[in-house]
Amino acid sequence: MSRKEILVVEDEEDILELVRYNLAKEGYEVRGVLSGEDALNEVKNKLPDMVVLDLMLPGLDGIEVCRELKSNPKTQHLPVVMLTAKGEESDIVAGLELGADDYITKPFSPRVMIARVRAVMRRKSQKLADASSVLKVHELMVHPGRHEVLINDKPVQLTSTEFRILHFLARRPGWVFSRRQILEAVHGSDYPVTDRTIDFQVVGLRKKLGEAGRYVETVRGVGYRFKEK
Ligand code: CA
Repeated sequence: MSRKEILVVEDEEDILELVRYNLAKEGYEVRGVLSGEDALNEVKNKLPDMVVLDLMLPGLDGIEVCRELKSNPKTQHLPVVMLTAKGEESDIVAGLELGADDYITKPFSPRVMIARVRAVMRRKSQKLADASSVLKVHELMVHPGRHEVLINDKPVQLTSTEFRILHFLARRPGWVFSRRQILEAVHGSDYPVTDRTIDFQVVGLRKKLGEAGRYVETVRGVGYRFKEK
């Protein structure tokens, strides 16, 4: 397995060095930058596996960087661990509300920092594993890695949008999702389509699933759900 890459954003060079040294010792590939602007550029150049982000930065501060990362569909799932100082409680809260995963208060012990980073990394790999594992529901087998659906072992041809809708719903049988939630899950929130598009896609999906199409249920006034066993 390739080494996990962490981008460290910290304007105080001795702290940057301390973080870099300790993460590198743990086997992480570490890139360091001194400003929020550089951080966003680095992420654009090459997506790391995690960002360790100082909040108090000159120019674009950590909260702004976090907001930027979490509002972009390409980077919204990138884990962010904030580096904060005492007295920055309101910034910590703001960061967590924006979607940051955890925070470390300075001065910190390297062991605590490593433990936090590892825990966040672990949660991330767990999420990825959940998203890529094969689903078996009723007589369907949904294989996200191959973008393949089998019904009673026979392959069904779906468009990629139909596939993503099916995968999204079938991951949580019995849960009801609004058209808006489905839309965001399958296209990202910046995709210019309407709720009606989802209805149209679902009609196509049901038709292709044949008998199994009945598992994609309409919940009047709310949205859709995949029928529970
Ligand atoms: Ca700072």
